Amino acid sequence: MSDMTEGEAGSFYNYLSQGCKLCQRGAKMVLFVTGICDRSCFYCPLSDERREDAIYANERHVHSDEDVIAEAYQMSALGTGITGGEPLLEKERVLHYIRLLKAEFGMEHHIHLYTSTAASMDTLSQLAKAGLDEIRFHPPYTTWGQLEDTPFARALRDAKTQGMDVGIEIPAIDEARYIGKFVNDMDCFLNLNELEFSDTNANAMHARGFELIDDLSNAVEGSRTCASNITSALRKVHFCSSSYKDAVQLRKRLIKTANNTARVFDEITDDGTLIYGVARSDNIDCLISVLRTLDVPADMYGIEGKTVEMGWWILEDIADEIRDSTHEMSIIERYPFRNGIVVETIPL
Ligand code: SF4
Repeated sequence: MSDMTEGEAGSFYNYLSQGCKLCQRGAKMVLFVTGICDRSCFYCPLSDERREDAIYANERHVHSDEDVIAEAYQMSALGTGITGGEPLLEKERVLHYIRLLKAEFGMEHHIHLYTSTAASMDTLSQLAKAGLDEIRFHPPYTTWGQLEDTPFARALRDAKTQGMDVGIEIPAIDEARYIGKFVNDMDCFLNLNELEFSDTNANAMHARGFELIDDLSNAVEGSRTCASNITSALRKVHFCSSSYKDAVQLRKRLIKTANNTARVFDEITDDGTLIYGVARSDNIDCLISVLRTLDVPADMYGIEGKTVEMGWWILEDIADEIRDSTHEMSIIERYPFRNGIVVETIPL
């Protein structure tokens, strides 16, 4: 593979768009603006739950502009990737969020958009004026062999005239080999995503003969090879592996969030989860008074209803002494969000 840089978790590239650079640092918020899409790509990974007109900032189902801004602050986002569904079915919503994020975080907050449409010049001009920095087109795979003859060629050229960084983003399947000349001629970047199984695409993928690499991964056998077979001829290409998206990007984003949300007594793990101790009691006043008697510093615990949360090492130390004042004690590991998913519970 000539001039390729090997990234983490099996990714490789000779070009990274600014959107990808920030994503690799875990600094991009994913803003899912609608689950509605009028295409039906056989490989579409969208879950049933997301196939509705709902808005998510990362994993958070958002209901207001304030929710979106709060999520961006929580992860110290330096940029946002707008995706869906098909975002431009809700063009006004997309324009609104671009303006909102640029107003709150400044023009340097980098925004990229994924679209499966060959957007009109008018739309591209509105997006650029709102502040969109980068656009990634996802043409239907049946057109990859003759893209020059489709409206996507015009849309790519128009997007460039608007000053945006322009690319194509598609899964790494065999048909991707037809797209190389077009990408080079257009001088745009090509993002190849490792093809993945999901609950919703599994039947269609099996029907086309795709298989999992192994039982531990959602990645499709041969997708990486498809990418490496075509990339040496490309000037601007990036292969993003399934495990990179799952493991590295998510972990970096969780660590940033954890650094913003951890209390003084939470331990932040290398995976970006939080570990702390939990003691539940029907007589919380009695439990607090025992903690005071044991000289547990006031900043090393917090009270949530009938629960006291504290440093896990403190709870381990005092477990026997407070057992009679509690009805349940455990050490908990969870995602660093409010009501984040609990990964593990160890009873004491
Ligand atoms: S264009 Fe994107 S969201 Fe729409 S069906 Fe295809 S993969 Fe799914």
